[in-house]
Amino acid sequence: MRQTFFLLLCFLTLFGSARAEPVKVFCAEALWCDLAETLGGKAVSTTSILTSPLIDPHDFQVTPDMARKLADSSVVLMMGGHYDDWVPPLLAAQPSASRRVISVASLTRLGQGDNPHLFDDPEAIGLMVTALAQELSRRLPDEAGAIEARRAGYMSVIGGISQRLQLLHQELQGTRIAVAEPVGGPLFQALGIDIVDPAFALAAMTHDDPAPREVARLEEALRRKQVRLLVVNPAVASPSLNRIVALAREAGIPIVEFDEFPAAGHAWQGWMTDRLDRLVAALGAHG
Ligand SMILES: [Zn+2]
Repeated sequence: MRQTFFLLLCFLTLFGSARAEPVKVFCAEALWCDLAETLGGKAVSTTSILTSPLIDPHDFQVTPDMARKLADSSVVLMMGGHYDDWVPPLLAAQPSASRRVISVASLTRLGQGDNPHLFDDPEAIGLMVTALAQELSRRLPDEAGAIEARRAGYMSVIGGISQRLQLLHQELQGTRIAVAEPVGGPLFQALGIDIVDPAFALAAMTHDDPAPREVARLEEALRRKQVRLLVVNPAVASPSLNRIVALAREAGIPIVEFDEFPAAGHAWQGWMTDRLDRLVAALGAHG
């Protein structure tokens, strides 16, 4: 009897370890791997490439090491929409029929030229959570129940942030601000905040020179205090941006830093809450 039990134990251990082969997930940006770990727990193993929002994702060069990590992965998570244009060449160089690529830009049907900073969009995060939960459940059928429970928990967290945005919308609708790069776009849109310099910000994102007319218009808006806030992105710097920041300081316009995405190890909810807290403080709002 004892021997039978021992054999059974050996069998279960072997079976268990065979089942425990984790799903390898490659993430262009660290947040997606945080989601994968939240949903899949120990049943996933993750590799993030952009782990610090101080790296400019719009102007990033890959290394051979990253190509090797990608070759080894069965699920690839990315923003898409020209946010991380360094990923498609890596994928094309190492095709795999069993690899699944999930791009937030595809899930949200982001249009050509639309703002790809979807880390600030609760709905986009929810679409990624759901698509990822489906993919992980398909690969880990034994874990499907646990994954679904974690997905539901994450969706209620996202719902909490959406609710705060709706409340803040009543307070901040029509507020005019300037942004030095299009980071935060979906958040400002959800709040009904007016961005006075979209063309200037887009040029900063694509590392193009802004049109002189756009620069003059933004400088005028800052000098005349026609905006209540300047939002800057710590990953992007240039002489024209430095000049804009200096002008905002001279005019006494509050400056708030919005980074590109949560750093590795930082959860989305805390990152969004911190962003909203700083925005509310700078604008003297209450929500
Ligand atoms: Zn950006």
